[in-house]
Amino acid sequence: MKKITLIACLLWVCSACDISQKATAIEAARPQIILKLDDLWNENGLVHPGWVQVVDFLKKENVTGTIGLVCESLEGGSEAYFDWIKARESEGFEIWHHGYCHCKPKVDGEERREFRGTSAEYQLEHLTMAQSLAKEKLGITMRSFGAPYNSTDEFTAQALAQLPDIKVWMYKETDAPTDKFLLDRIAEVNIEYPVHVPDFEQFKAGYEKFKNEKVLVIQGHPRSWVQEAERFETFKKIVLFLKSEGVSFTTPYAFYLSEQG
Ligand SMILES: [Zn+2]
Repeated sequence: MKKITLIACLLWVCSACDISQKATAIEAARPQIILKLDDLWNENGLVHPGWVQVVDFLKKENVTGTIGLVCESLEGGSEAYFDWIKARESEGFEIWHHGYCHCKPKVDGEERREFRGTSAEYQLEHLTMAQSLAKEKLGITMRSFGAPYNSTDEFTAQALAQLPDIKVWMYKETDAPTDKFLLDRIAEVNIEYPVHVPDFEQFKAGYEKFKNEKVLVIQGHPRSWVQEAERFETFKKIVLFLKSEGVSFTTPYAFYLSEQG
């Protein structure tokens, strides 16, 4: 009798052990989150209040984010603007390449995007000018790229190949081959639905569907969130929800480095 009790006991301990291992595995499966925040420009030489409120909130919550810099803004920026960006970088925010002008140039009378439908020379020049400005004005070597409007073509891939410092390409949608590390867009899981308007319920539905992914790159536009107080409140709700889920927040380059053998 005693022997049987002992075996039953051991079996129970083993199954309890198994359950706790499974629980740990589920815990570890939480996705890493990259907050792909777009469109830092200077406003009258200074940082837009939409960015200030977002970064202040993330810092208070010990959450790291990323800053998509439109590099033309460095040409007219003040020292205060440069210092704000440099301070964010030193805190762990990643400053990433979001184009030189974020413009819609005309080619043959037709409106194009900075990195779609423009010439190979134009694209290389814009990528290089932006990279140089960040180095010159901020002392920062940008490591990740995300195109304005997420619009690119085969010339973008060719031009990026000539910028070896750029390692990561977020939201690449052209089929042209590249050796950059890719962080893909999952349209269903995002901060804003539609663009510029955070929506908690839609985010949560997308998150629940894709939470087994290793990494989720979710896009937002902090400058648009001052237009209605509710937009910023919704962004905060999304971040607090993610924290309660036990995710970890990372940046494109940090994630890339962690994936290297
Ligand atoms: Zn943008």
